[in-house]
Amino acid sequence: MDAQDRPDVAIVGGGIVGLATAYRLVEARPDLQIAVLEREPQVGTGQSSRNSGVLHAGLYYPPGSAKARWCTAGKQQLEAFCTEHGVPVAHTGKVVAAVDRDEIPRLHALEERARTNGVEVERLGPQGVLDHEPHLRALAGLWSPRTAVTDFGAVCRALAQRIDAAGGQVHTSAEVVDLEQTPEAVRLVVTTRDDGTVPGAARRTSEVTARTVVTCAGLQSDRIAALAGTAGAERIVPFRGAWLRLRGDAAGLVRGNIYPVPLPGLPFLGVHLTKRIDGQAWIGPNAVLALAREGRGPWSVDLQDLADTLRFPGLYRLARRHLPTAVAEIWRDRVLRATVREVQRYVPDVEVADVERGPWGVRAQMLEPSGEMVDDFRVRRHGRVVSVLNAPSPAATASLAIGAEIRDQVLTHLP
Ligand SMILES: Cc1cc2nc3c(=O)[nH]c(=O)nc-3n(C[C@H](O)[C@H](O)[C@H](O)COP(=O)(O)OP(=O)(O)OC[C@H]3O[C@@H](n4cnc5c(N)ncnc54)[C@H](O)[C@@H]3O)c2cc1C
Repeated sequence: MDAQDRPDVAIVGGGIVGLATAYRLVEARPDLQIAVLEREPQVGTGQSSRNSGVLHAGLYYPPGSAKARWCTAGKQQLEAFCTEHGVPVAHTGKVVAAVDRDEIPRLHALEERARTNGVEVERLGPQGVLDHEPHLRALAGLWSPRTAVTDFGAVCRALAQRIDAAGGQVHTSAEVVDLEQTPEAVRLVVTTRDDGTVPGAARRTSEVTARTVVTCAGLQSDRIAALAGTAGAERIVPFRGAWLRLRGDAAGLVRGNIYPVPLPGLPFLGVHLTKRIDGQAWIGPNAVLALAREGRGPWSVDLQDLADTLRFPGLYRLARRHLPTAVAEIWRDRVLRATVREVQRYVPDVEVADVERGPWGVRAQMLEPSGEMVDDFRVRRHGRVVSVLNAPSPAATASLAIGAEIRDQVLTHLP
């Protein structure tokens, strides 16, 4: 990226949300210069590739919320995009399983919510559950036929190709290190790695001037927003999610997706079993506080990240509220047998010998100083910058709808 580049819209972050926004913009206004700036050598390697790969149908989200609206619309749009551009999608469906009596009222409340959101669901008894998932033992279930799986990393690569083909620019190994708004434009300071592939290779710094900027920086969203003037008092607190993998024939213990009834008051959906698009079966993810936002390994420590997390009062208020859950999550994270025991509640045939440790990812979870987890998507505008502050699950599913919303916000200010 060179100083003479003067994009109409610069998008910070080449994850699925930034790319979907760029795609919606080039599609609507091929006359504009759109540039995506991604810090890593490839697009979509952050949260967008390290997730469960589930195209959520939209049953969980409070009616009227941005999640409820954008998940159902975005899923349809993403499936159409995948069909058009050869990204595989498998319509495997999902059973939400109630194994204890006290989960049944919550399952019925979920059914009600799904119907209010216009999402197709079917109530199941024990036999209906077995018809869909022969190894699942539950008192009752909710069948979601529209839940599907895909490879969101492949979606990111396809989006980048379409942006490029439509005349947009996707710059990788390009990190935005500073951002300043003036009345006429936004000045970005960008550090570029020369060869774009070798970490630590020679770097150069340039200044780029854009008419407007959209920030979609995932785990860095609060820090980039602070530079852009769009930040509030909320902060990103990183939560690592790790999966177990079912070995060999044990992958056949799940056909589609098996989810527990979610715990009230927490945005995470619980440890679930997912048959992935490549045929692997994963159990997870759990949710434990991460010691680095973007570490190379699950136990990486970044002192700056850790200090920011520990300095934030919201963390302690959250911990006070959910201490038993947090301790149980840490225990299950360390003791593989404990996760297996949890899964055996609903799939009793899973044995410890059937599982191995699998991949992991880090969620960008936004927290208020009060300790409340920000559940809904959060987008904020200030002057010439629109910032996506909170884009947790199902933002990958909803990405094209989020992109369309941001496109409309940007274009009203860009004649
Ligand atoms: C464990 C887990 C499971 C999940 N499961 C699902 C699921 O099944 N279905 C679903 O729909 N969603 C799921 N999600 C959520 C989904 O993955 C995310 O909501 C989505 O990927 C967010 O996309 P993003 O583009 O906002 O963030 P990211 O993918 O994190 O992208 C942000 C990008 O910004 C770049 N960046 C940061 N700072 C800078 C800078 N200064 N300059 C340039 N670039 C920068 C980063 O390198 C990164 O590539 C899951 C998430 C996790 C972690």
